[in-house]
Amino acid sequence: MPMSPPATTTNLLGLPRPELERFVAELGSKPFRARQLMQWVYKRSEAAFECMTDLAKDFRTELAERACVRPPEIITTQHSADGTRKWLLRADGSQAFEMVYIPEPDRATLCISSQVGCALDCAFCSTAQQGFNRNLTTAEIVGQVWLANRELAGTVADLARERAVTNVVLMGMGEPLANFRNVVPALDILLDDFGFDLSRRRVTLSTSGLVPQIYKLAERSNVALAVSLHAPDDELRNELVPINRRHPIAELLEACWHYIDERNGRSVTFEYVLLDGVNDSRAQALKLARLLAGHPAKVNLIPFNPFPGTRFRRSTPEAVQHFRDELIRRGVLATVRRTRGDDIDAACGQLAGRVIDRTTVRLGSRTIGVAVQP
Ligand code: SAH
Repeated sequence: MPMSPPATTTNLLGLPRPELERFVAELGSKPFRARQLMQWVYKRSEAAFECMTDLAKDFRTELAERACVRPPEIITTQHSADGTRKWLLRADGSQAFEMVYIPEPDRATLCISSQVGCALDCAFCSTAQQGFNRNLTTAEIVGQVWLANRELAGTVADLARERAVTNVVLMGMGEPLANFRNVVPALDILLDDFGFDLSRRRVTLSTSGLVPQIYKLAERSNVALAVSLHAPDDELRNELVPINRRHPIAELLEACWHYIDERNGRSVTFEYVLLDGVNDSRAQALKLARLLAGHPAKVNLIPFNPFPGTRFRRSTPEAVQHFRDELIRRGVLATVRRTRGDDIDAACGQLAGRVIDRTTVRLGSRTIGVAVQP
């Protein structure tokens, strides 16, 4: 890691290409230098300007004075028996957020956070219990991917080489669409040919259903969209995902189909966490199938991951199987998400980070106001 640079330096992590070009121009260099710089930073995980050997020496010296590549600081790393890794990262002071690396035979997925905590108060999610502290910056969002690649490269033992991140899911702490202003530039950098250069199908944004922001996203990005549905009717969804009281299911689905039309996407993934005796009956599977059949949708069933103090229980494996079969029988594609990293509390909905000093009151069961950016 480079030594801490002075506070006035510009963190290049998090500057989308046009902004980096402007910055480079201010230093008196040509725009294509920005592309070279991005390749060093994102493709080779390089933070030390003196190592960027195809840049002019004067330019490197100036960069060292005026700029830095500063990812979030790692507080702790935990390794799961199944290869999953979880990092606790410092936001500021004692605030912290988490990211999770999930290796599979054919890919390596990084699950990143977009906020410190979350204001949406979904009944079955452990992040919700932490309350909300603040939005992550663009640098902190892309910095997670940068850091993971850098950390993985650091553990190369030739035979057991861990792969760099191939897929990114915004499914960690926070509601990405409530932090639209910082998330969208981060998506730009993830997809940029000179940035992380990920294909749009390998970057997935998951939302609990902020309908106006889904329409806005359709104008600005084309990443894969996942929606946390979790209930087949408004009555139940109002309880499980309180934002539903503001944006009910019919409106949410309209927005999803619009996103697919506009963005020429293949399908929206609907996440559905199976809660024993709450949303896992045959009748509910039928209702869900009725909502989605004939639309560009697939369902990802998530066995509930418990956390201390929760009133919910995981559905039985038989219930999960029946629910899935029922959907498939009605023509709706459905898969069951395999639980990974639960021995280190790295599974879906278990990311708690460390959120102290909450600045926003959580959504109570009566209020449905939530701070989202204009
Ligand atoms: N706020 C966004 C991003 C978080 S994604 C969203 O709601 O989509 C995290 C995914 O894990 C969501 O689908 C969420 O509903 C699901 N999840 C939350 N708590 C869970 C739990 N305890 N067990 C399993 N899945 C959970």
